[in-house]
Amino acid sequence: MIPSVLPTYNRAPLHFVKGEGCWLTEEDGRRFLDLGAGIAVNALGHANPDLVAALTEQANRLWHVSNLYEIPQQQALADKLVAETFADTVFFTNSGTEACELAVKMARKYWYEKGQPEKTTILTFEGCFHGRSSAAIAASGAEKMVKGFAPLLPGFRTLPWADHEALNAAVEDETVGAILIEPVQGEGGVRPVPDQCLKGLRKLCDEKGILLIFDEVQCGMGRTGRLFAHEWAGVTPDIMMSAKGIGGGFPLGAVLATEEAASGMVAGTHGSTYGGNPLGCAVGLKVMQIMTAPGFLEGVSARAGFLRQKLEGLVAAHPDVFEGVRGSGLILGLRCKRAPADVVKAGYAALVITVPAADNIVRLLPPLTITEAEIEEAVKRLDAAATALETQPA
Ligand SMILES: *Cc1c(COP(=O)(O)O)cnc(C)c1O
Repeated sequence: MIPSVLPTYNRAPLHFVKGEGCWLTEEDGRRFLDLGAGIAVNALGHANPDLVAALTEQANRLWHVSNLYEIPQQQALADKLVAETFADTVFFTNSGTEACELAVKMARKYWYEKGQPEKTTILTFEGCFHGRSSAAIAASGAEKMVKGFAPLLPGFRTLPWADHEALNAAVEDETVGAILIEPVQGEGGVRPVPDQCLKGLRKLCDEKGILLIFDEVQCGMGRTGRLFAHEWAGVTPDIMMSAKGIGGGFPLGAVLATEEAASGMVAGTHGSTYGGNPLGCAVGLKVMQIMTAPGFLEGVSARAGFLRQKLEGLVAAHPDVFEGVRGSGLILGLRCKRAPADVVKAGYAALVITVPAADNIVRLLPPLTITEAEIEEAVKRLDAAATALETQPA
């Protein structure tokens, strides 16, 4: 008999009942250190008091009105995002996949309005993840996501990872209107795109007249030690997707764009019932205020450096379990010699939560507020997990 919850997830038998900072409490009382943060969502920790206050204050006043009316919280958050980024304008969604939908629509509408409606092709890269909508799975092209869901939305072409020749050949196709890329691949296995490559992509897009879209749903919002990961490379996109950390745990996403890239999206071309609602935007504004306060991002980088150094030690101590560390800031991947699912499971037994990814990676995406003491404790628990694995047959 089918479970009452549609069984699209293989869930761990863990029932968390309370969260506080980097800690999650299970129904049975066990306290776990959370290095997953709901997949990079609880960027400021569980039950962050400032976010709880922003949410409850708004909840007591007004939950929902519809985008038929002006929403001051939405305006304030858009103003803040525009002030802190490359963007001139923002549309709010409830999730990353909805942001992907709009990014695709915006790029195609741009070329349509420019009188080049043939420029519908969007190039993506192997291992990418942009969500689970029909557009987002077509963008990924990965067999495990698209199989059985044909006909797919046409107009996407997935290129091999880090293959400059394939990219240079692909952009000769006159129908290419946009390139969509995660500056750090998340689900694909925490693979950062080198700064020179992001610079090269920007240059290529400028030369060929192609829109550059960054998906910063997972790697953005402070996770790499800058507000958005692409800032390290000193380049800006035309369109950017955000979600996950932007709401700190409240469902919120956004598409940020330059005035030029957004020029086709006039009244009536897109909409969302819940997108940009007062609750989400009140929380999102507080998240932005905290992350852009002096010293916050520097603190993330310092903690990230400390964690990375500890992880290098962990890898060296367990060469039969781990192969190396990669990533950027507090989006880190432990490359495993054992099945990542087994490493994650051993972590549960040692009361530390991690998240598997492709390419034999176990992801570490802790709240950005994790302390040095918590990092030490987390790595101690990972060490215990690895030790337990070493005594088990592979
Ligand atoms: C999670 C994720 C998405 C999809 O976001 P949802 O909120 O799950 O729809 C898109 N892109 C990237 C890079 C992601 O990590």
